[in-house]
Order: sequence, then C-alpha cells, then structure tokens
Amino acid sequence: MTLSAYKKKRDFEHTPEPQAEDIENLPHSDLIFVIQRHQASHLHYDFRLEMDGILKSWAVPKGPSYQTHEKRLAVEVEDHPLSYASFAGTIPKGQYGGGILQIWDKGTWIPFGDPMLGYKEGKIVFALKGEKMRGLWALIKMTSRYKGRKPNWLLIKKHDKYADGISDAELLGA
Ligand code: MN
Repeated sequence: MTLSAYKKKRDFEHTPEPQAEDIENLPHSDLIFVIQRHQASHLHYDFRLEMDGILKSWAVPKGPSYQTHEKRLAVEVEDHPLSYASFAGTIPKGQYGGGILQIWDKGTWIPFGDPMLGYKEGKIVFALKGEKMRGLWALIKMTSRYKGRKPNWLLIKKHDKYADGISDAELLGA
C-alpha cells in the first residue's frame, strides 16, 4: 500500500474524498477499474486499475479513444485507495483536485500476465469489461527525461472487434 502521497495531498477536514479503505472495499477476486470524469482546473479522465490492493492511477487529459491510431497521454498520478472507485462528488475549491468528479465508467479488468511486473516494466496489456470501455487496451510507459517525476504513459486501443468502432464524439459525448 502506497497511499502516503494520496493522504499528503488532501485535507480530509475539507474534502469529501475517502480518507482510507472502507472494510467493504477490501481486495476481491475480480480486479476493478474505474474511469472518473474530473472537471478540475482542466477536464481530464482519471483512469484507475486495481493492482496489489490499491488503484494505480493515470490522468488522461483527452480521455480514452477507440481509434487504434490514437495514443492518449496518460500521466501517472499517485496511487488511490480502492474505496476511491466508488467516489463521486465535488471536491471543494482550493483543495487538491478541486472540482466535480463523476464516475464515467466502471467494471472489471483482466491483465495479460502479472500486472505488477507489467507496471514495473512499463507495458500493461489488458482487457476491460465496463459499460463504455470494452476489449483490449494497453498502457505503455514512455522513457522519462526527468528523474523523480511520475512518468508519462500512453493509453492505446489494441486491435479487436471493438477497435475503431466507436467515435470519440460518441464515446466522450463531445
Ligand atoms: Mn483527477
């Protein structure tokens, strides 16, 4: 569990976000994923994958895309507690991530291979079973020029029966 950065960034006296794990959100056999639409200072989509008892998290400024030629920037952010997958609400202005956070999609995910190893090696290939997010996807870590900074990844749709089938406008409601 690596939630110290998560806790350090937030003042739980002032934000309704979960402070720690709820007992009913402890790890279970199906791995969950969630995408939260976060209207903060800049709109982005927070993509979170359950891994090793926490939610590995990436901020995707443009949101996901079913277009296989698109490579969506996914900025790795701090690990979040599993209970965050059920959180939606308004984070007060002035608090970290202040703005409106909605659950945009939620479901389960299936990693190909050991997900923690994939995370460490910078290549996670997986299937999503959500309402909006289906089929095969990959997260690929880019080589970082800056030491100490959280790395940038790319979220890519892999070829399958869903690939290129849904336009960005249909998916994101642009
Ligand atoms: Mn966010």
